[in-house]
Amino acid sequence: MNNKTLEKYLDKYLNVSNFSDYCPNGLQVEGKSDISKIIAGVSANQDLIERAIDEQADALFVHHGFFWKNESSVITGIKRNRIKALLDNNINLFAYHLPLDAHPIVGNNIQLAMRFNIQNPEPIGDTLVWQGEVDSTLEDVAQSVQSITQRTPLVFGPKRKSIKKITWCSGGAQSYIEHAIDVGADCFITGEVSEQIPAICKENDIAFISAGHHATERYGVQALCQHLSQEFALDYQYIDIDNIV
Ligand SMILES: [Zn+2]
Repeated sequence: MNNKTLEKYLDKYLNVSNFSDYCPNGLQVEGKSDISKIIAGVSANQDLIERAIDEQADALFVHHGFFWKNESSVITGIKRNRIKALLDNNINLFAYHLPLDAHPIVGNNIQLAMRFNIQNPEPIGDTLVWQGEVDSTLEDVAQSVQSITQRTPLVFGPKRKSIKKITWCSGGAQSYIEHAIDVGADCFITGEVSEQIPAICKENDIAFISAGHHATERYGVQALCQHLSQEFALDYQYIDIDNIV
């Protein structure tokens, strides 16, 4: 599979042009033109790149790539090390951020809904937050989050609280809790948490589960690469670089 052809396919499949993002979505570092082995991971850090080199990957697919709007644009220090390792080994780096959160089939949020058994999942208007239904208690929802992510979540709210309308957003979306409150949700699940969140939740009578930024964003890139592997007969592997945040 040609790398540029693959990028064109993904531009369309993930609707890249519809998003105004904090980073470029697509081929971020160009490697060899012919791709047969792809590796998926959450973040393009040195550990993941070294594993991709060990596995002789032709392309690495991540949710968190390089060239974020708020970072320095020079290629020095660890950024130089990461990019040099990719270029020296001719590995293509493809990164998809917001398009991979929002996609209706392989997106992080729909993939979470499937795993958490949430009914009627859909985005709340044009926000990045999703809503759906369960018939459960906070204790049971938290238990299911724990068993799926294999990680102990931080949970705020009464254990016996009835959870019917549930909202969620993968990653570091704690500041989007206002969208969950606006739709009258019983619970909001995201990856990270900030100091003011417990009080905001208590005062708005909404439960909150911080399930891990990395843990909530493992599934989209896996679903995407499984799709590519089936569509184009590519050899595919997911590599998890453990991250407790
Ligand atoms: Zn993220």
